[in-house]
Amino acid sequence: MNSNRLFETTPYLKACETRILAIRPEGVELEATVFYPQGGGQPGDTGYLRLTDGRELRVIDTRKGDSPGSLLHILESMPDDLEISQAVTTEIDWERRYSHMRMHTCLHLLCSLIDAPVTGGSIGSDRARLDFDLPDASLDKATLTDALNALIQRDLPVGTRWITEQALDDQPELVRTMSVRPPRGSGRIRLVEVEGVDLQPCGGTHVGRTGEIGRVMVSKIEKKGRQNRRVIVRFAE
Ligand SMILES: [Zn+2]
Repeated sequence: MNSNRLFETTPYLKACETRILAIRPEGVELEATVFYPQGGGQPGDTGYLRLTDGRELRVIDTRKGDSPGSLLHILESMPDDLEISQAVTTEIDWERRYSHMRMHTCLHLLCSLIDAPVTGGSIGSDRARLDFDLPDASLDKATLTDALNALIQRDLPVGTRWITEQALDDQPELVRTMSVRPPRGSGRIRLVEVEGVDLQPCGGTHVGRTGEIGRVMVSKIEKKGRQNRRVIVRFAE
């Protein structure tokens, strides 16, 4: 856990006051941020940096930088008078991010319903998809839609916790219940749990309870090659 990555601990935080940590050709790094960087199929956040003189700088994307832990806020246009340690207020485009949180959490539910390895995925503001390594074509749109909405209606709590690789090794039963194998090497792993339904390592942002997702529908199931099935989910409203 890195305390300056506020989206990891408080995904509902829309804004924060901070300072410029570094200025790179591609964007700025901040001492703390509410902006989620593109990763794990979830898009990077957009929004604004507000300077003390009232100027608003548009953030068009957030990406991971080259050095470990660095997060780049990509600006629409970079003013030439920015300075290290300059105070800024940051604010994300909340409606867009909240849609990503709802869709992302919905993909965890979808993952729990299909007993096959996930080979890819992508999250948008109104739809999301997961690809499964699944040769047989037994998936049914209506059945999956009903099962997803049933889990959403149960309004299950969604939580995160950090675990060391050592602690994980000491509890092999935990890995067995996970739908995705945790990455190794960083020493610590962030687990996301939809109570009683899904447990997996994940770095994204999620809603606090499944009821917040709202009604969804599986709009398409596509065959992608001999082995792959792509499942596309949309908000029903
Ligand atoms: Zn996740």
